[in-house]
Formats: sequence, structure tokens, C-alpha cells
Amino acid sequence: MTNDQYTFDNPKTRYDAITPPVQHQDEPGLDSRLDPRPDLGEQSYRGTGRLSGRKALITGADSGIGAAVAIAFAREGADVALSYLPSEQSDAERIAELIDAEGRTAALLPGDASVGEECRRVVDEAAMALGGLDILVNNAGKQVYCEKLEDLSDDAFDATMRTNVYAMFWLTKAALKYLPAGSSIINTTSVQAYKPSPILVDYATTKAAINTFTKALGAQLAERGIRVNAVAPGPVWTTLQVTDGQPDEKISEFGHDTPIGRAGQPAEMAPAFVFLASPESSYVIGETLNANGGIPTP
Ligand code: NAD
Ligand code: MG
Repeated sequence: MTNDQYTFDNPKTRYDAITPPVQHQDEPGLDSRLDPRPDLGEQSYRGTGRLSGRKALITGADSGIGAAVAIAFAREGADVALSYLPSEQSDAERIAELIDAEGRTAALLPGDASVGEECRRVVDEAAMALGGLDILVNNAGKQVYCEKLEDLSDDAFDATMRTNVYAMFWLTKAALKYLPAGSSIINTTSVQAYKPSPILVDYATTKAAINTFTKALGAQLAERGIRVNAVAPGPVWTTLQVTDGQPDEKISEFGHDTPIGRAGQPAEMAPAFVFLASPESSYVIGETLNANGGIPTP
């Protein structure tokens, strides 16, 4: 039998400390072209009914962390709407097939989340396709490194803000009319919120904003029985890294400087999202759950 997330083993050696070959893709990249292949939980995530009958919209659900969350949610019994960019259709279709295989509904919703109107459309179409919504995972993200602030164009700065911060605002605002008490909103932040890289000034700033948005909105919506939390991944092997998320020559050592000594796999992020989506975290609000291989955070 294949190991799953409940197998009692050594987390340091659960996955290899990968040394990926130099590779580059144009944004947003395709998961299917990543070398080595990341673990999205296809063989390793085992569901136990923790999200039975739930209806989730997940952005950036075609690849990486969002795809791992989509697979996990479906295996836990949820129907899932996947938001992603049109060029990622083939990745999204692969994830939808895995969701179909669980007997759950997968709604495919391509669109550009950096545009407010598109966010509102995606939310409405997700609620229509699933017959409502009670989980929103704001996970789409843009990370493009820039060595010098003088070289960071106004357009690039704006695009990072729109994709990482504005989209979260637009999607959440549009989703609220559908979310009943008991719903859960989960944002994807980053260790970059606390330990920013000098070449990721714009990106790291958005991740700090996501943390604070999560705390403020969590406090606001608690009264309505809607919980808002965040997950803060450390270095996780995804397309984000090979689409100018960092200089290509740094990729071979990716994640080696964490206390655990290796990059994380998307499948290792999914249980944190499942916990925050499920009623078992009923008293957890405004929290950021770090899953980063041991990097100290405040
Ligand atoms: P990924 O490239 O697999 O996923 C990012 C997704 O964002 C893309 O698949 C794409 O569908 C979506 N996206 C980007 N721009 C969009 C737009 N304008 N409209 C709609 N969708 C858009 O990479 P990932 O690492 O899984 O990233 C998911 C989240 O995790 C991001 O928020 C990222 O900041 C965060 N994160 C990643 C790491 C890491 O090391 N990989 C670490 C910390 C946080
Ligand atoms: Mg993708």
C-alpha cells in the first residue's frame, strides 16, 4: 500500500531533498512540465470524510498548493470549483479528472483574478455550479523577483498587488452573499511575510497584507459564524519557482536551507487547509498556520 499522510515516518526523509535541474517557464507555467514532478497527493492523500457535502471555491487550483488542496478537499467529500488562468487549462483538467474519480463535482472556471469583474463572475459561477458555497480558498498568487527597486516597474508592482491582495478582497467580498454560518475562508500567505527576501519586496509585502487582512476580517466575520484563517507555506516545489519566482540558478538548492533540510511538497500543505476548512477548527479564527519546514516565525 502507498504511504499516506497518516503514515508514521520520519518527516525529514518522507520526501527527497530534491535538487531540480535548471529549468524555466513563462508565467504562469504548467505543473505537467515541472522536473521533478511534485507530489500533489494523487497517490498519497487519503480522505476520511472531514468535508462531507461541502462546496469549495479554490483559486490557483490547477497546480501546486491549490491543486493539492483541491484533491484533498474532494477526497474529504467536498465538491470543488477550480479557478485558474486560461493557459493552464490542461493542468486544471487533470485535477478535475482526479476529483471526478472521487465521485465529486469539479467545476472548471478559467479567468483572470487580477480583474475585479472576473473575480465576481468566478464566484457567481462557482456558486451556481456547486449549488452554493461554504469554503473559499484564496490561493492564486504572483511572485516575480526583481533585484533592484528601480527596476520594479509600476505595472509589475500593480500586477502583484492585484493578483495577491485585490483578488482576495474581490473574491471574498463577492463570496459573502453565498457563505452561510459555518463557512470557512482560507488565504494563502507565506513565510515571506516574516522573512522577506531582498529580491521579493512587492511579493513579501502582499503576504504581510494577507496576514493582516486575515486577522481583521476574521474578527469582523466571527459574529456571523464565518471563520477566516491563513496558511503560510515555506519553500514548496511548484511552478511559481521556475516562472521567475526566483533566479533559475538558485532552484537546485531550493528549500535546502530550512531546518528540515528539504523543500516541501504541495501534498504536505493540504492537511493544514483541510483542518482550517473543517468544523474541527471551530475556535481557530484569524490564525496563520505555518507549514514551512521549521523556519522560525513571530
Ligand atoms: P502555482 O504556480 O502552482 O500556483 C499559483 C496559481 O496562481 C497558478 O496556478 C495560477 O492559476 C494562479 N494565478 C496566478 N495569477 C492569476 C491570475 N491573474 N488569475 C487567476 N489565477 C492566477 O504555485 P504555488 O506555489 O502553488 O502558489 C500557490 C500560493 O502559494 C500562492 O499564493 C503563493 O504565493 C503561495 N506560496 C507558495 C510558496 C512556494 O514556495 N511555492 C511559498 C509560500 C506561499
Ligand atoms: Mg498553475
